[in-house]
Amino acid sequence: MSRLNVATVWLAGCSGCHMSFLDLDEWLLEFAELANVVYSPVASDTKVYPEGVDIALVEGGVANRDNLELILKVRARTRILVSFGDCAITANIPGMRNMLGGSEPVLRRAYLELADGSGALPQAPGLVPELLEQVLPVHQVVPVDVYLPGCPPSADRIRACLEPLLHGEWPVMEGAELIRFG
Ligand code: SF4
Repeated sequence: MSRLNVATVWLAGCSGCHMSFLDLDEWLLEFAELANVVYSPVASDTKVYPEGVDIALVEGGVANRDNLELILKVRARTRILVSFGDCAITANIPGMRNMLGGSEPVLRRAYLELADGSGALPQAPGLVPELLEQVLPVHQVVPVDVYLPGCPPSADRIRACLEPLLHGEWPVMEGAELIRFG
């Protein structure tokens, strides 16, 4: 059986979902027999998202221009896209800024109203990615194939999703143990 190309992607999230992935412990050895990790913040130094990815776990919401550019590329180059964790599925924690009504009020609150002394809005075009007006869940930007909820999803839940995919089967994500938020 040939190995599948697997990627993990970090958008606007705290990396807790990736930490939970590392909690797979000894099953990671089995995973390594079945998958080539071709792109991941925790396991590869590749900066460019490659072509021909079979499975991508995408953590985080879509919060800025860099996130947007990356998720469009991920979708175009990936066969099965998994919305990995509550931030990817609902925008969750990064989405709390949506209550302020847009990027400008968020920046004003953080850099002017709450700043000590003379704050200034960040200005670094090309270096600091511009915030989107709202943080969006992944499925509002590109089609998603599998939803893997949790904040973070437990290692057991990640395995229940990933193991069938690696064997060419569709995961059955149902019941409180596999689809509960939080
Ligand atoms: S779902 Fe929870 S653990 Fe995962 S990135 Fe968001 S806040 Fe972090």
